[in-house]
Amino acid sequence: MLQQVFSLGISICIGVVVVGTTLRSASAGENKESPAVSSPSQQNSAIAPLDAVPIDALELQALETYKQLIAKAQRQKRLLAPTDERVQRAQAILDKLIPYTFRWNERVKNWQWEVQVVQRACADVYCLPGGKILMNSGIFNQFQLNDHEMAVLLAHEIAHALRGHASEFANLQPAIPYTREDEAEADVIGNDIAARAGYDPRAAISLWERLAAIDRAKPLKYAKIHPFIERRIREIKIRISDLLPLYAKALGKTGETLEPYKASAIKVKSRPQR
Ligand SMILES: [Zn+2]
Repeated sequence: MLQQVFSLGISICIGVVVVGTTLRSASAGENKESPAVSSPSQQNSAIAPLDAVPIDALELQALETYKQLIAKAQRQKRLLAPTDERVQRAQAILDKLIPYTFRWNERVKNWQWEVQVVQRACADVYCLPGGKILMNSGIFNQFQLNDHEMAVLLAHEIAHALRGHASEFANLQPAIPYTREDEAEADVIGNDIAARAGYDPRAAISLWERLAAIDRAKPLKYAKIHPFIERRIREIKIRISDLLPLYAKALGKTGETLEPYKASAIKVKSRPQR
């Protein structure tokens, strides 16, 4: 079933993350030198501790599925080479994000992170249990994100996996969207990770505003799976003042010396392209 779901996730451009994890409070993180931040429950009352769920088997199954999907993409000559600038860009961002995932889930230290990009027009990205990230090239072509926005997007997907959110299918199509609580958690955790990794948290606003604009021009499947965009933008704006000091610290600056944020200047494309 898992493989079926993942396979369909690729073939019909629907993101899916199915994983159970043990969440550890950020305030109990091992990085004692990190600036004090409010715990997840303080940042968002929707975030509550998860029960420990044995997930070795799920991660192994996801890895097997991932290998099969990659092999299929290779056979179809759709898998971008490691030297492709899109793959290298995504990998570079992922490398910066990874160290800041541990404080949310100790188990992540065992994950073997990897990102692959498949040549598909539909803009989609998701993180599988175990740290394997699959992106469609449509993410790059259609969204036209700057690195800050891309980092926020990847961190959001990672956060869904860290938190053990599940997006499952009722009738395989259409996909069931994440709940409002899942989305709020993924934003809080993802934006925290991105800011600590040195990505501007103001990109979270421009990212979702951008996706909202694309979605208004032409309904976007990614926005369907990750709904509540207008609401999340309001909530992200409320938390920006908490995130900016984390970002400034990552740059060795203070909040007062941060440069103004510039969103991607590229005009939003309303139609997907390969
Ligand atoms: Zn989401």
